[in-house]
Amino acid sequence: MPNLALLGGKPVRSEMFAHDNSIGEEEKQAVIRVLESGNLSQYVGSWNKDFFGGPFVRQFEKDWAESSGAEFSIAVNSNTSGLYACIGACDIGPGDEVIVSPYTMTAGAIAPLIYGAVPVFADIEEDTFCLDPKSIEANITPRTKAILVVHICGHPTEMDEVMSIAKKHNLKVIEDCAQSPMSTYKGRKVGTIGDAGIFSLNYHKHIHTGEGGMITTNDPVIAEKVQLIRNHGEAVVEGKKTKDIYNTFGFNYRMTEMEAAVGIEQLKKMPELIEKRISNANYLSKILGELPGIIPPVVKEGCKHVYYQQTFKFKKDIVGVARNTFVDAVKAELPLMKLRESTPIMGVGFAPPLYLQPIYQQRLHKCSFNCPRYDGQVSYEKGLCPVTERMYYEEVFTHEYMRPCFSKRDLETVINAYEKVYQNLDELKEYEAKNTVTV
Ligand SMILES: *Cc1c(COP(=O)(O)O)cnc(C)c1O
Repeated sequence: MPNLALLGGKPVRSEMFAHDNSIGEEEKQAVIRVLESGNLSQYVGSWNKDFFGGPFVRQFEKDWAESSGAEFSIAVNSNTSGLYACIGACDIGPGDEVIVSPYTMTAGAIAPLIYGAVPVFADIEEDTFCLDPKSIEANITPRTKAILVVHICGHPTEMDEVMSIAKKHNLKVIEDCAQSPMSTYKGRKVGTIGDAGIFSLNYHKHIHTGEGGMITTNDPVIAEKVQLIRNHGEAVVEGKKTKDIYNTFGFNYRMTEMEAAVGIEQLKKMPELIEKRISNANYLSKILGELPGIIPPVVKEGCKHVYYQQTFKFKKDIVGVARNTFVDAVKAELPLMKLRESTPIMGVGFAPPLYLQPIYQQRLHKCSFNCPRYDGQVSYEKGLCPVTERMYYEEVFTHEYMRPCFSKRDLETVINAYEKVYQNLDELKEYEAKNTVTV
């Protein structure tokens, strides 16, 4: 009879983990107040005081500005919309290049394409998985207009170096903070260091409103442009007497009053939710980091990691089995989380290198890389970003067992699962030898 659950043995735990739910009575009452007001959204797409949205949206923006330390906060209906709006607000267009990360959620590379510009992929650092300033610099050309950094998994990018490169080459810096609210770099909050920052409020982020996003900036020009892009700017600029109208034609990126009402309550809970994540992650890193061949997340000096997920590196040569086999074995010991049955909270690789997607491989866009105004030679070849590829195909695995809902007992179960797999590595090696697993 095998011991490991992957091979038919009894799992460490079968009772499901609790649903990680931070939505409570406060959010419920807030939404009821909106419903009772009868105005579920108060935006008007023309120059009018309601161009800026209703009272809940405006309050949420005010609260976010206070907590983020940014001068302006602009609510949108997703981080994706926020990324697009910020690219537009930085006056990016056909013929321009934007340096992006290949190791992130897909929208971070598509954003330049929306405005006809070309995403250029730089490689990542192998300890934090954020863009490597050396690779950013190596990818700068006369066409580069901006750097879109992503504070990935909850750890900030090396912003001092990024900002000095940007200054030297006169580039804008946009920070994708979707995975890193309240993360700090040398005492400064992410989203306030570059020209603009964007946060996500979708349901698997630190706090959520269903869907939603928030842009932060200290630059009044960018603030005005993203407001115009958010809400049909072309119909507004005349009445508003805006002079600099480049890229200010609009979309509908407006957040509803209900989402804003939820966001106001969620924002109050955010510090506590994040501290719980950090303390769970620290505990798991300490114990799991003692297992040979498992390298827990690095936290660089002067940085605050807020653990969107806990990202480990796996050394196959030390453990003696492939990463994917190991992760399958740990996962099999543990139950799923209630209401998250379709998205396991442990996985391998994180994000496939974005440049390998068909849209880049086949250059399927009539402007951007095929634009007559583009005279560069961007590459999307396999092998382009070797660190990213090694992390994705060989070394990285992630889990979310540090989520705020995990109790001390839950964490002990998780540790037991990892330890059980280590105690039964021989069984796993034998299984692997019989099954052709390559990674
Ligand atoms: C979640 C996420 C996004 C997209 O956020 P939405 O609000 O779903 O549009 C973008 N970038 C990163 C790094 C993310 O994690």
